[in-house]
Amino acid sequence: MRAAARGAVYAAVTGRMGGRCQCRTGDPGACGKAHAVTGRDCCGRGGARRALVVVPVDPAVPDHIAAVLPAERLIALCPACWDRRRNAALAADAGTAQPELFPAPTTEGTDES
Ligand SMILES: [Zn+2]
Ligand SMILES: [Zn+2]
Repeated sequence: MRAAARGAVYAAVTGRMGGRCQCRTGDPGACGKAHAVTGRDCCGRGGARRALVVVPVDPAVPDHIAAVLPAERLIALCPACWDRRRNAALAADAGTAQPELFPAPTTEGTDES
């Protein structure tokens, strides 16, 4: 998929919740943590240094499939939830950790370090 197309997918997914984390305790794709604010929805936002991450709802989807999934099968996670979900996957099976397939657009010159 071309970078422009991925940018459109990123915008579509993150726009669903107004730029907030879509992690919801107990739902598919959730990080597994009980979120403090509502007890269920995270609603976290990406920070200035790290934007929301768009990943497949299903952590087991292979990368080459995940890269072409429609927006409906993707979820936007805040960096904290993404780290928890990824770390949980790493702990369970080193082979299932996913890369960030839909990086945030870098038009504002973000620091990628
Ligand atoms: Zn979150
Ligand atoms: Zn979460």
